[in-house]
Amino acid sequence: MKTISTIQEFRKWRKGITGSIGFVPTMGALHAGHLSLVEESIATCQNTIVSIYLNPAQFAPGEDLNRYPKTIDADIKKLSSFQVDCVFLPNDSEMYPKEFSTQIQENFLSRVLEGNSRPGFFTGVTTIVAKLFNIIEPTHVFFGEKDAQQLRIVEKIISDLNYPIEVISCSIIREKNGLAMSSRNEYLNNEERIIAAIIQQALQEGKNLIISGERNSKIIRDKIIHTISSEKLLRIDYVSVADSKTLIEISDKIEGDILVSVAVYLGEIRLIDNFSYSVSSRR
Ligand code: AMP
Repeated sequence: MKTISTIQEFRKWRKGITGSIGFVPTMGALHAGHLSLVEESIATCQNTIVSIYLNPAQFAPGEDLNRYPKTIDADIKKLSSFQVDCVFLPNDSEMYPKEFSTQIQENFLSRVLEGNSRPGFFTGVTTIVAKLFNIIEPTHVFFGEKDAQQLRIVEKIISDLNYPIEVISCSIIREKNGLAMSSRNEYLNNEERIIAAIIQQALQEGKNLIISGERNSKIIRDKIIHTISSEKLLRIDYVSVADSKTLIEISDKIEGDILVSVAVYLGEIRLIDNFSYSVSSRR
């Protein structure tokens, strides 16, 4: 497994690569969720490249950039037990030289949910993703449903900007208690992990309502809010029942493909989770 930290060296190495190239962008502190994307890439593509870059542009001042877990040696060790061909590990001056002054901004899907709560977040994401696509030149990219809105926005910029790249979405990997795996779970102590698992339980209750035939989005939303609110230490940012493609909030009857998503604070820690559901096909 090659580790490369400059764009110039990467491009030199990339010239010698033939066949399909799967790319898994990450911010490090790798866990089983990230590794499932890596496995999917290895199963799908002839070559697999993983990037580890903690992108400062997607953190607002006051967010957890400085606190974000950095476990680079352990990350490389984890990746070296898979058939990963190259790990790209650029530093900040490589990705954002002093004179850097360009942004990529998606202007529809980025306005709601995470984008509403974290202004500028998706511009940071789409800018780094576009840069990485231009450097890596993958044929396939692997993104997790854990960050469902991000996945849809990446699909949108790939389409809008005509990148010849196929997006593969990968299911959410969870802890035993149902909590969606996240690098930010490192911030949680054991007691908080138990509390955080209520988020998934609430989503599951919402899903069960839909399975049992409920179609009123308000009733589904209220059920999820009620369960999360039963734990005093959890503070809801949003609970959304939206169209899965447009992310437009559904105010009455759910139909077609929907995305039910939540963002919840446990103290200072922001946790997100979701599920997708195809209403018509599973009646
Ligand atoms: P991050 O390092 O948080 O930027 O995540 C890198 C990629 O891993 C993104 O495509 C995430 O959606 C994906 N990912 C993170 N957590 C999970 C998880 N629990 N299950 C599946 N994919 C995940």
